[in-house]
Amino acid sequence: MYNTGMNCTICPVSCGKDRTLTPGYCGEKHLRIAKYGLHFYEEPPISFRGGSGAIFFCGCSLKCVFCQNYELSRSQRGKEITPAELARIFKELEEMGAENINLVNPAHFATQIVEAFALYRPKIPVVYNTHSYERVETLQKIDPYVDIYLPDLKFFSPELSKRYTGKSNYFEVASAAISFMQKKPLRMTEEGKMLSGVIVRHLVLPMGVSDSRAVLSYLKETLPEEAYLSVMAQYTPFGEIDAYPELQRPITAREYRAVCEHLESLAFPRLFLQERTASGEQYIPSWDY
Ligand code: SF4
Repeated sequence: MYNTGMNCTICPVSCGKDRTLTPGYCGEKHLRIAKYGLHFYEEPPISFRGGSGAIFFCGCSLKCVFCQNYELSRSQRGKEITPAELARIFKELEEMGAENINLVNPAHFATQIVEAFALYRPKIPVVYNTHSYERVETLQKIDPYVDIYLPDLKFFSPELSKRYTGKSNYFEVASAAISFMQKKPLRMTEEGKMLSGVIVRHLVLPMGVSDSRAVLSYLKETLPEEAYLSVMAQYTPFGEIDAYPELQRPITAREYRAVCEHLESLAFPRLFLQERTASGEQYIPSWDY
């Protein structure tokens, strides 16, 4: 059930690979990262003043064709580290003044990350930053160490998720995962830094207005009042998109306006809305390893 060694079933792909010998569908055997450091492009209560202490993990079990971190998610970059080294990175980021420890796409390394927390428990909040294609059983194991969830809800339509990730059950899996994550209570400092809570993200895609509307309507019905929604316009053509003509441009002003009009009608109580001008490669980190 919760196994990254023989017969791995840690994520919903459940590919059953023996990760002591060979990488799984996620592309990974042992713990690997491509970068860590202070990151200033998260939502304001996460980056806050000192920056979020982001750790970018290699590999991915979702694999969107348009992945904005393509080299990383396809395991083309990275350096193997031990859980003890990861624990030292937690401490180093804290000493650098990070506002939090931000685990970026960590699910397929949940076992090793829990081992690292057993060695060093950060004194700053821990952020779990995920595409949400996650097993609730795995989330339950790491949840005691997590203060803030930062999940994406990427697609509503099974046809669209199948087209872009090969998985028609994305919404079914991700919505169950987010239902679990949204139980984190909201706690903020008076200055506006998040200490605990959930921010659900949605990236608007080119030709994706109707799916975005469906995602937002679903979230309006299901998100608790305490949860934040973050709607992002930063889609930048990237990745393995030659066969997807619709993905070869940023979203248009008209597309974003249509999504924003729907958002306005839903009146989310806690909302971050990105400027459409946020599209561009400056939001794509360069990798260290
Ligand atoms: S985490 Fe990787 S190896 Fe494990 S089930 Fe998922 S894809 Fe397979």
